[in-house]
Amino acid sequence: MTISPNDNSNFALARLREFIRNSEVAKDGRLPTERAFAETLNVGRRAVRRALEVLEAEGLVWRRQGAGTFLGEKPDGWSAQVDELVAGTDFMEIMEVRLRIEPQLAQLAAMRAKPSEIERMRALAEKTGQSTDADSKELWDGSLHRQIAQSAGNGLFLSIFDVVNRVRQDEAWQSIRERARRTGTNGRTSYEQHMAIVDAIAARDPGRAGEAMRQHLLMHQERLIRATSLEFLDETAAAVSSPDTEETDGGDISAAS
Ligand SMILES: [Zn+2]
Repeated sequence: MTISPNDNSNFALARLREFIRNSEVAKDGRLPTERAFAETLNVGRRAVRRALEVLEAEGLVWRRQGAGTFLGEKPDGWSAQVDELVAGTDFMEIMEVRLRIEPQLAQLAAMRAKPSEIERMRALAEKTGQSTDADSKELWDGSLHRQIAQSAGNGLFLSIFDVVNRVRQDEAWQSIRERARRTGTNGRTSYEQHMAIVDAIAARDPGRAGEAMRQHLLMHQERLIRATSLEFLDETAAAVSSPDTEETDGGDISAAS
């Protein structure tokens, strides 16, 4: 008999945990096969299988029939559906929905936010104001808006908010937002608007909180319209390099605002 593999499942589990912690896992999160694990860790295949079952029960890995074992929690059908929804929408639709739900969330937050949550909102508004690059601004702004949504204290409403805000993970969204910021007024307006929302929530004034949120989102919407129409103009200017394209410029922009 050669060196027989260790058939202790607890041993296998410890080695697998170590592997997951320290190894560079493939980009799609796919783990090596049971057989490969058994060979490299010198443990029995049955022990590997049992250890993987434990990791799956803990939510650290998940398995798809015939495709292998993957790192992380099993993606649910719902999240795939949300991705599809987001891919099929556009920025104007997103802003229309945000304008109709976030003022209501701010109103509820004004009635229900805990003092500690209001403090967090202020800190997040400061962080957003201090951010210098688009990625970080988008991150902290998203976090502030989500804190307000969470403080509204309605789980169903929060889920709807999360679906709409999934778009923030989209590259195209990021670049259009960045463009919108450049074409609009400076970040000062946004900062003041955020503070006005938080102040109204702190004052327990639902009407004012809702209106402040509405004004803030209206400004975003207007900037987005301007940024996308500028993008359109850039494209037409690039395609048609005739001198009279300049005349249509002003007309299109004023029509947008
Ligand atoms: Zn904001």
